[in-house]
Amino acid sequence: MLNQLTAAEIAAKLRAKEVSAREVTQSFLDRIVKEDPHYNAFLTVNSDQALAQADQAQSKIDSGEHHPLCGIPIALKDNLSTRNIKTTCASRILENYVPPFTATSVQKLDDIGAISIGKTNLDEFAMGTTNENSAFGSVHNPWDTERAPGGSSGGSAVAVSAELAPLSLGSDTGGSIRFPAALCGVVGFKPTYGRVSRYGLVAFASSLDQIGPFAKNVEDAALLANAISGHDPLDSTSLKNSQINTSDLKTGSLRGLRLGIPEELFGPEIDPQVREVFELACDNLAREGAEIKRLSLPSINYGVTTYYIIAPAEASSNLARFDGVRFGPRIEKEGHIESFSATRGELFGPEVKLRIMVGTYALSSGYYDAYYHRAQQVRGLMTAEFERAYQDLDFIISPTSPIVAPKLGGITDQMALKALDLCTIPANMGGFPSISIPCGLAYDLPVGFQLTGPVMSDEKILQASYAIEQAFGRDYRRPPIL
Ligand code: GLN
Repeated sequence: MLNQLTAAEIAAKLRAKEVSAREVTQSFLDRIVKEDPHYNAFLTVNSDQALAQADQAQSKIDSGEHHPLCGIPIALKDNLSTRNIKTTCASRILENYVPPFTATSVQKLDDIGAISIGKTNLDEFAMGTTNENSAFGSVHNPWDTERAPGGSSGGSAVAVSAELAPLSLGSDTGGSIRFPAALCGVVGFKPTYGRVSRYGLVAFASSLDQIGPFAKNVEDAALLANAISGHDPLDSTSLKNSQINTSDLKTGSLRGLRLGIPEELFGPEIDPQVREVFELACDNLAREGAEIKRLSLPSINYGVTTYYIIAPAEASSNLARFDGVRFGPRIEKEGHIESFSATRGELFGPEVKLRIMVGTYALSSGYYDAYYHRAQQVRGLMTAEFERAYQDLDFIISPTSPIVAPKLGGITDQMALKALDLCTIPANMGGFPSISIPCGLAYDLPVGFQLTGPVMSDEKILQASYAIEQAFGRDYRRPPIL
């Protein structure tokens, strides 16, 4: 069954001419039609275009010179702009919006012959932790369809976990790749800020947003990270020499790897069973020669509150462009101001409106110093604290999420929901690369193991993750429903 294979395994079959790119693409398209009604992971499926791309990919494969991802279907979070294909950000305000250009990360995949199979569901404008904020319905977790997949890239996580696509792309502003990857039992990687171009990613919080891969294992995640990374003149925050090199991926060892667990990420917030699975995983790594230390990084205690000032502040500015004139539908009223407020008032969902209000307040004169400026100071302190820790450590480790996948509708306290971002937020604050690897099950649901490293340590973090995945024994577990 093709759907059970990793991208690297499918690539080998394509190379050996055991299957054609069209057969691969068709088999995933068929699977989406049949299975996605259980999950609601896809908002748009590009059947015709994907098959046309598959035929082009096949000619590349036949010519003998091709990239390993040529002919491999990839699902794209629906906040990545795709020319001639709807890009909704799971918002009514962009319902039926068709961009006139393609995001650089997606363009790079097109250029190497990867197949854009469809656009995946997300929390509206990537604002959320459970994927329940989509204007087009919640996404369901294949481990238990009454549970949330995590957000905001829930559709992309489920696409891989439910084997509807071998790979997918998501975006991570405060954990939106790693968190759903953890809850769905797949690998999710957020590269160093600036290594993947943000051009064409609909901006949420520009200083935190980063695009990255979801995959069944680290090898596949590294393949995709390599393909989408690299300098882009169209993104002014893109780093020079930023392509992620994965040639040494399989040469790492756990012996002497210095890992640190901050006590602030291992407190009472962590579910006792998640804690146990994480501790067993650490014991396993220690037996293989990793050195695991405990440390304290006190600024982590302010991470969630700081993030929930900075992210909404940036969002309030970025989302000002959705005025019913330039993008998407417009609710026509007597005057311009009336049309503007009717469009924004009726077409943005409640969480997005809340954040625009909080962000506008935090940036307003008289409050700017007390909130936004102070949050930026804390962000600086936190980054410095992590950088100091990296002088004696290779990576900071913790569970990716304090809990396993919650029931849909199960968390009603908005503060409790936001507190779940505790472990993932610091990486975005410092622009650090960070990955979530499945490390076991608690309550029969997946638990993620997170590693965060210094800026530009992407190669090292992937190499260590590859070795860690081998130590964990089973790199990929299928949800029992499949
Ligand atoms: N859960 C966080 C939020 O709601 C992170 C979202 C993200 O990374 N896009 O903002």
